Amino acid sequence: MAKAARRASWIRVRPEGLHVEPGGFHVDPTRAVDRAIITHGHADHARPGHGAVAATAETLAIMRVRYGEMPFKSSQALRFGEKITINGVTVSLMPAGHVLGSAQVVLEYRGERVVVSGDYKRRPDLTCTGFEPVPCDVFITEATFGLPVFRHPEDRHEIATLMHSHALFPERCHVIGTYSLGKAQRLISLIR
Ligand SMILES: [Zn+2]
Repeated sequence: MAKAARRASWIRVRPEGLHVEPGGFHVDPTRAVDRAIITHGHADHARPGHGAVAATAETLAIMRVRYGEMPFKSSQALRFGEKITINGVTVSLMPAGHVLGSAQVVLEYRGERVVVSGDYKRRPDLTCTGFEPVPCDVFITEATFGLPVFRHPEDRHEIATLMHSHALFPERCHVIGTYSLGKAQRLISLIR
């Protein structure tokens, strides 16, 4: 137990977000910081105003589209699995299967590996690279739908229900509310 309590002691939760102390950078900070690793383009993870940002090329492009040409002072696009070192902390991104460009952040420091999941899903989605589990010592996970009460139905079944309704009522308009980035594209791909 005592050993577990010391794990990932080099990562702290600060008011502005998850701070990797030896690296001098944040992951998905909630306020503008000097240096940030961004998991994906949703607004509760990617915010404008940072100094240097590292993320996938897709996430950087989404940030530019959403926040204007210069949502950060400088940027570094990382391919999945590509490793960079920031002040002794090795950083790489692995697919999270959430939206286009979404990544888990893999942090390695002094023999310990921490994975910050960002938002992720494990079901197939044609609009983004599929989630890849990464062995690690500490897994910092998002848990938006983590409670057992959430049991999402099979997406193809839901689309079949929609297509059936459309066939039954071709003269009716079918309105489906989805979030604009990610969910809308996934829905379109499923309908196609
Ligand atoms: Zn998200």
